[in-house]
Amino acid sequence: MNAEIIAVGSELLTPHRQDTNSLYLTEQLNDLGVEVRFKCIVGDDREGLTAAAKLAMRRSDIIIVSGGLGPTEDDLTREAVADALGLELRRDPEIAAKLEERFAKRGMKMSANNAKQADVLTSAAALPNSLGTAPGQWIGGKYDGQERLLMLLPGPPYEMKAMFEAECIPRLRARVPVQHIATRTFKMAMMPESQVDARVAPIYKTYTDVETTILAGAGEIQLHLRCRKDSQPEAEARVEELSEKIEDELADSIFSRKGETIEQIVSYLLQMRSMTLAVAESCTGGLLAERITSIGGSSRYFLGGAVVYSNELKTQFANVPKALIDQHGAVSREVASAMAEGIRKRCVSSYGVGITGVAGPGGGSEQKPVGLVYIALAGEEGTQVVERNFPGDRKRIRQFATQQALEMIRRALL
Ligand code: AMP
Ligand code: MG
Repeated sequence: MNAEIIAVGSELLTPHRQDTNSLYLTEQLNDLGVEVRFKCIVGDDREGLTAAAKLAMRRSDIIIVSGGLGPTEDDLTREAVADALGLELRRDPEIAAKLEERFAKRGMKMSANNAKQADVLTSAAALPNSLGTAPGQWIGGKYDGQERLLMLLPGPPYEMKAMFEAECIPRLRARVPVQHIATRTFKMAMMPESQVDARVAPIYKTYTDVETTILAGAGEIQLHLRCRKDSQPEAEARVEELSEKIEDELADSIFSRKGETIEQIVSYLLQMRSMTLAVAESCTGGLLAERITSIGGSSRYFLGGAVVYSNELKTQFANVPKALIDQHGAVSREVASAMAEGIRKRCVSSYGVGITGVAGPGGGSEQKPVGLVYIALAGEEGTQVVERNFPGDRKRIRQFATQQALEMIRRALL
């Protein structure tokens, strides 16, 4: 079965609000074995919404509309869907009474416009809203001779999710043919997407029954495998076979097989080896420390460190000799290395990280362009420094730099 999601709200057509409901719904539908074939965003416009609903009813088995069920003038989903399906709206006395009761409980009198939230399409079942006022609606039946399921859900994400989970998933489970899906996710750090694809495409192309997707982020590539079969063991066996070949090819470039973040993997490895870590950050301004401490229990291995933005603090807090900075410049292999070693010594940690670079957009030169970053890792076995020219804006460069540092820590611990 395939689905279509219609997100309603003029704010979703501005740069200020994103349609996140459809991301959640897509994930949930995929888990049920339903593919989302179309997504559409419509403003608070009755005719536009009627047209979108008609089109969706023609081309999709399952239609989920979110938003526009509130009490205000611009909430037009009920009316527009009634127009699209040629159905009437009737006021449900039980829902109207519940709404009044809800207001009375808070010592408020219900205004007239709130009453329209009790309007239900003929043939629809009302879906209770445990977290808000507007009930949802569920309609199943034939439309132009085709079997269709239509759901109207509230717009606020927490109300929509609660309703979808409590009311829609059980109903969908009973109607959607059981699908057996097996999935795997692999994550790699600091590998170019093209390189990953060049290496794994010859392998996954021979598995036409396994859907393979590559997603690229700043310094992270994800490889998603997904296979549907008539039985779970069959689906698992197929993805497992392909997974083994991919693991052979990419070997220890893969840092995660179960969806873990690189911070989690580094956390796991440091704890397993009973090692500690300290950082001295310049251009990343604490982002590495932030990422490391986003993991609960990081106090077991992360001692702390310093944000050493100025040359003076590089010397004071990370023991970088002033002469070294004068000779090579703050953004240099030598200073990164001294930062890592200096902070390691000061904090008495197993590992020390030093990051110095030009995050931009200003401050670049011909010899030291924007994006040039030195990342150093000092440990018992010595110090390694990596020089990278990261692409992108300030945010991306800083993300790349911390990712590189985490990958260096990970590899050192393997
Ligand atoms: P509504 O149901 O139109 O009254 O929506 C109420 C609130 O939920 C608005 O503030 C919206 O910004 C938010 N909202 C509605 N639809 C979505 C959506 N598709 N994704 C994220 N937020 C939404
Ligand atoms: Mg709205």
